[in-house]
Amino acid sequence: MKLKPLQHTFAERLQALYSSEEILAFFYELIDSFYGVSRINLALNPDIEVEDASKLTDALQQLEVQKPIQYIIGKTEFFGLNFKVSESVLIPRPETEELVSWILSEIGIQNSEVRILDIGTGSGCIAISLAKNLPNAKVYALDVSAEALQIAKQNAELNNVSIEFIEDSILDVKNSKLLSEDLKFDVIFSNPPYVRNLEKELMKPNVLENEPYLALFVDDNDPLIFYRAISNFAVNKLCAHGVLFFEINEYLGQDMEDLLQLNFKNVVLKKDIFQKDRMIKGVLK
Ligand code: GLN
Repeated sequence: MKLKPLQHTFAERLQALYSSEEILAFFYELIDSFYGVSRINLALNPDIEVEDASKLTDALQQLEVQKPIQYIIGKTEFFGLNFKVSESVLIPRPETEELVSWILSEIGIQNSEVRILDIGTGSGCIAISLAKNLPNAKVYALDVSAEALQIAKQNAELNNVSIEFIEDSILDVKNSKLLSEDLKFDVIFSNPPYVRNLEKELMKPNVLENEPYLALFVDDNDPLIFYRAISNFAVNKLCAHGVLFFEINEYLGQDMEDLLQLNFKNVVLKKDIFQKDRMIKGVLK
């Protein structure tokens, strides 16, 4: 089947949902990913045919129900690295790349023999990006979801880094290694679930209907549940002068500052590129 006519089918069937630039970008990404045909290839050989176009027509149906392109092709990029994604993990966000840059700039290369822990690793994007940039660091990553950990392990392999993965819930830690007195961390970080149900109406259907509820939402009455549990855990598990970093809900910057100030000093709240409160750090008191 020829690819070019399918490009027109995409434009027609998706025009009510996406801009024409987006539709073209989807189409090129899909033919590259499925058939290894680049945009230039298609421009130079408009008669290119593929034997089995069903993958492309299936993808079109998924785009019609607003499934994110990253889940359709099963991969994405984050911090210049390739990551596999499935519906068991959040699609990494650009704001989270800013958190990685911040952690890297604060750890500094001279301290690179650090022991670091990621809580709620998901696809592993933060832990793996840090491991890649801090080759001497010992990196641990925790998640409650076995499915997410499977993806994170594949991503560690894909990016050639070694990470110790732990399946456990930070709300009720049972893992004996994590509980042992001997294991302390220089840096602990987390991008836990932080979206309140009351914020659902601000979210797009492609997020709401496809991304894992478990990774996104918290109870309206206790939106900081994970942050409290992680701060308490960090008080016991950080070395002296250890640092805690969080990605946070843009509307809860002040509450997060108040929470961290209980046990941490030098608390810094930081905005993302969209000028929203998005990250915070503190040094153990
Ligand atoms: N920033 C994500 C969003 O916009 C939420 C991430 C999280 O809950 N940790 O959907």
